[in-house]
Amino acid sequence: MSQKEVRVRFAPSPTGPLHIGGVRTALYNYLFAKKHNGSMVLRIEDTDQNRFVQGAEDYVLESLNWCGIEFDEGVHKGGPYGPYKQSERKELYKGYAEKLIESGDAYYAFDTTEELESLRKKLETKKAANTSYSSFCRMEMVNSLTLNDQEVQLKIDSGVPYVIRFKMPENKEVRFTDIIRGDVVVNTSTLDDKVLFKSDGMPTYHLANIVDDYLMKISHVIRGEEWLPSLPLHVLLYKAFGWENKMPQFAHMPLTLKPDGKGKLSKRDGDRLGFPVFPLEWKNPQSGEMSSGFRESGYFPEAFINILAFLGWNPGTEQEIFSMDELIQAFSLERVGKAGSRFDPEKAKWYNHQYLIKKSNEELTQLYQPILKEKDIVCSDEYVSSIVGLIKERANFVTDFWEQSFFFFEAPVEYDAKMIKKGWKENTTEILNAFLSKSEGLEKYTFNNLEIAVKSVLEEKETGMGQLMMPLRLVLVGSGKGPGVIEIMELLGKEEVNNRIRTGISNIKI
Ligand code: GLU
Repeated sequence: MSQKEVRVRFAPSPTGPLHIGGVRTALYNYLFAKKHNGSMVLRIEDTDQNRFVQGAEDYVLESLNWCGIEFDEGVHKGGPYGPYKQSERKELYKGYAEKLIESGDAYYAFDTTEELESLRKKLETKKAANTSYSSFCRMEMVNSLTLNDQEVQLKIDSGVPYVIRFKMPENKEVRFTDIIRGDVVVNTSTLDDKVLFKSDGMPTYHLANIVDDYLMKISHVIRGEEWLPSLPLHVLLYKAFGWENKMPQFAHMPLTLKPDGKGKLSKRDGDRLGFPVFPLEWKNPQSGEMSSGFRESGYFPEAFINILAFLGWNPGTEQEIFSMDELIQAFSLERVGKAGSRFDPEKAKWYNHQYLIKKSNEELTQLYQPILKEKDIVCSDEYVSSIVGLIKERANFVTDFWEQSFFFFEAPVEYDAKMIKKGWKENTTEILNAFLSKSEGLEKYTFNNLEIAVKSVLEEKETGMGQLMMPLRLVLVGSGKGPGVIEIMELLGKEEVNNRIRTGISNIKI
C-alpha cells in the first residue's frame, strides 16, 4: 500500500432507507480507515433532486450511529474539506464541467427529450451495437460538436436548456486495477457519452463524485459492485482532469444475495421470508408503508455488525464472533471475496443469540423490564434477573423472553390437552398431593430441599421421575415449556407452587 494517508468516504444518496448492503459498505470503509489510522468521511450525494426522499439523511445518520460506525468528518460534524453535502457545493461543479469542455473532453448538448427519444428508437430499429448517445451517433445530434461556436453561444445566451456530456474516446482500452477484482480492461466502444452536468444546473453523480473524491483527498473508494460499470468513466475523468496521480484506489464489494443465492437481496425478500433488510424501522413518507428494522426486531448492534462483516469478508480462521475492535484488527480488503454473499437469516439469529448469552443477567434484566412493564407486570430486578439466567440459553432475542418465561409472572389459565393425555394418569392426583404436603412442610424453599422432596415422593410412591415431573410442569406452566421444574419451583416460591398444584388438581380432569 502506498504511503499516502488513508482517507475513505461513505457517500450515500438520500433516496430512501439504507439497505444492509449500504451499511456493509459503510462498515468496510470504517474498518479499513481505523485499521490504517485513516479518516472516514460522510458525504451526502444529493444531486438528483427528483429522487430526494424526506428523512432519508437523518435515517442514515441514526442507523450508522446505532451500529457504532463513527465519522471523522462529514455532513453532521464538518471538517476541513466541507461542505459535505453536494447540494451545498453546487456552485463549484460547473467550473469543472467547463474545464472539460475547454480541454475537448466534454461538450454541450441541446437535444430535446423528443430528439433523444427518436434517437433511441432509431438506434434500436437499426439494432446498433451501442444504443445510447455515444461516438456512434453524437455527430448527428444537436451539440457543440455539430454546431459552430456562434450557434452554441446563441443557444446558451437565449436560455435554451443544455446538458454537458463527456466525450467518450473512440475504441480505446481503459485499464484499471480493482483491489478485489484485480485487473480490468474495458473497451470504450461499449460506453456512452454520459451526462456530467444537467439542465437543472446540478452535476450528475459521476461528475460530483469524482470532483469531490479529488477535492476531499480520498485515497480509497470502497463501494458496491453496482458501481463497477461506472469505473471506466471515472478513470477517464481523472485522466481528463489531469488528476491521474491523485486517483484513489478502488475496491468494489460483492453483492449481498438472497438467502437462496439467486439474485440481489431486496426488501421484498425480507417481507416474504420474515426478516428485516434495513438497520432501523422505516416509514415510507409517501405511502406510509412500514419496513421492519434489525434494531426493532431485537438485534443487538454488535451482532448486526458481526453479521455484516461476514457478508463478503472472512478472517481465514474458524473465529466467528468479532467485536468491532477485533474486526478492525483482522479486516483486510484482500480477504473480501469476489462472489456475491448470501444473507442467511438463521445464521443472523444465531449471531444475536451468541451476543445475548454473553450479556450479564443484570443487563438483560434492564432490557426485559420495559417489556414486562408494558404488560403491567412489576417485579424486582432480582427476581427478573434469576428468570433471565434460567431462560437466556433458549432465546435469540430479548423479545423471546416472554414466550419462555410468562409462567413466572402469571399462573396458567388453561392446560395443554396433549400434555394431559400424555402425562395425567389415574394416580397423578395422589402423587401430586403427596408432593404438595412435602412442599408445604419445607422450611427453606431451596433447590436442594426441593430435590430431596421430589426423591422422597418418588420413593414413597414407588414411581418414576416422569410420573411426578410431567404433571408438576403442567400445573405450574400449563404446557410442556420452560426450564427445569425444580428451578421453576425454587423461583416461584412455596406459596405460589402450592397454589398452582391445588388449582391444577381441581381443574384437570381426565
Ligand atoms: N451516491 C452513491 C450511492 O448512493 C455513491 C457511490 C460511490 O460510493 O461512489 O451509492
